[in-house]
Amino acid sequence: MNDQNTKSSKGAEIGAIAALVAVFVFIELQLGIFERTAETIAVAFPLAAKYGIALLTGGWIGLTVYSLKRRGDLRTEKLARTAAEERVKLHKIVDPVTGLPNRSGLGFVLNEQVRQETAGDYTLLGIEICNLDAVISVHGVAVAERLEISFADYLIAHCGRDDMLACGDRSTFYILTTGGTPDERSLRIDAIIETVSAFCDAGIQADHLKLQAYVHFAILDIGQTTPEKSAFKAADILRRLDFVLHNARAHGHKAVRSYSAEMEHALNRQALVESSLGNAIETGQIIPFFQPFIDLQTNSVTGLEVLARWNHPQEGAIPPGVFIPIAESTGVLRTLTLSILRQACEAAREWPYDIKLAVNISPTDLSDPVVMDRFVNILHETSIDPRRIEIEITENAFIEETAAISQAIVKLKEVGVSISIDDFGTGYSSLHHLRVLPFDKIKIDQSFIKDMDTNADSRAIVQSVIALGRSLGLPTTAEGIEAGGNLELLQELGCALGQGYLFAKALPADEVGPFLENYKKQTTQIAHVA
Ligand code: C2E
Ligand code: MG
Ligand code: MG
Repeated sequence: MNDQNTKSSKGAEIGAIAALVAVFVFIELQLGIFERTAETIAVAFPLAAKYGIALLTGGWIGLTVYSLKRRGDLRTEKLARTAAEERVKLHKIVDPVTGLPNRSGLGFVLNEQVRQETAGDYTLLGIEICNLDAVISVHGVAVAERLEISFADYLIAHCGRDDMLACGDRSTFYILTTGGTPDERSLRIDAIIETVSAFCDAGIQADHLKLQAYVHFAILDIGQTTPEKSAFKAADILRRLDFVLHNARAHGHKAVRSYSAEMEHALNRQALVESSLGNAIETGQIIPFFQPFIDLQTNSVTGLEVLARWNHPQEGAIPPGVFIPIAESTGVLRTLTLSILRQACEAAREWPYDIKLAVNISPTDLSDPVVMDRFVNILHETSIDPRRIEIEITENAFIEETAAISQAIVKLKEVGVSISIDDFGTGYSSLHHLRVLPFDKIKIDQSFIKDMDTNADSRAIVQSVIALGRSLGLPTTAEGIEAGGNLELLQELGCALGQGYLFAKALPADEVGPFLENYKKQTTQIAHVA
């Protein structure tokens, strides 16, 4: 209906214009305006008549050439735009450095594999070069890219004809092997792992340099370990492979890990933790527990380490070693740290003034000035003297020393908070940091304490750390004391403080008061008997 209306109004418009033109032409012809004008122009401007036609023709040719050129330009522009769009599309599925399909490209193939009912089982191998960042910081991006290209070239040359190769972010390579039985695929994968390990050991050529690549491997066999494979999308498969890679990374150079039923369980647990952590912090499900530390010479409690505890309504107790890294990666650690601190400070108001509180702080929090400001505010708000607070920074925090961490340490020291270096002996650059940062205490990692009565090397390490602390004027704490024999050894070596199940596990806030009372009574009784 509307269309018809538009058509008839357009027709009327054209009719009106045509009628108007016809009236004008009729009047002009009647009055002879054209003829007289032409005669006047020819008389007044004789040259105009001569050159007019030439000008008109020239103009017409010019216009034609211009319009042809414009058409050509538009065509070129269109082609360039199409090529750019193609390039963008290609970039979406191709790794720009190695030219291999990237993770999205691999995802596309994996999704196809899942879609095809007839497609057989397949195995996915992930190889991660974990020292590429170090190569970038020492030799620059160009050399690191050459290393990746050499690595890719080697894989191309050594993969089977039917294998698909891809290269994802963070220098991870993928090899998808299809066909054959799981055992046959497993043999092929083992052969690739062996040859790649040997290639890395020999050093990889990157420009004029021969560089070491530190790698680890993750294997995921779809079909064998995951019977409901058709339910998986590429994202599910790659998430599982990432999990295995992460696990392998923790086991060092050339570590090989395969996806297993236990990993599926751990992954599900991780997903559950991720989805419920934010709410758990907000609703106060995560609370501080307190583990006493003891002066080993006087046998008196001098303080309590604050340890986060989460009793999940369905899953039960989830250890901090699991939820702290997840809180960190999901961006809720800041809220968690401050919530634990506030709860701990409120509880500590009930306990004797000379009982210190040792709070664990992760490097992420430490390098965040907002967290540090709020940290100090909470001490004021809960009326806790900052000199009662000690923060424990794990030695691994200093793998990447940042100016922000050093500034935070100096700031905390200024307000009266003292600083311990935790898990000493497991990290890097300890001696350098002991020299440049104002630490107050060293906590020897429990792995050395556990077997110091049976392992001479552990004993020697503990002895040297205590001696090092003494020469720097820093008291040492031994964590993880479980056996009486180790306690005696530590006392002989002059270790200042101790913590461990031998004295007490981490206690809920309401058990701390009675514990402190009892411990004091026991110590006094022993002293009287002696
Ligand atoms: P950490 O700071 O080195 O804490 C000592 C860990 O050793 C605690 O484990 C403690 O329960 C355990 N432990 C103490 N004595 C013994 C013993 O005699 N034997 C054994 N086998 N273990 C002992 P937990 O509570 O599981 O904490 C693990 C790590 O999680 C802590 O190591 C700390 O790095 C981190 N963490 C705990 N709570 C927090 C927190 O609120 N914030 C942050 N950022 N990290 C936390
Ligand atoms: Mg600690
Ligand atoms: Mg520790």
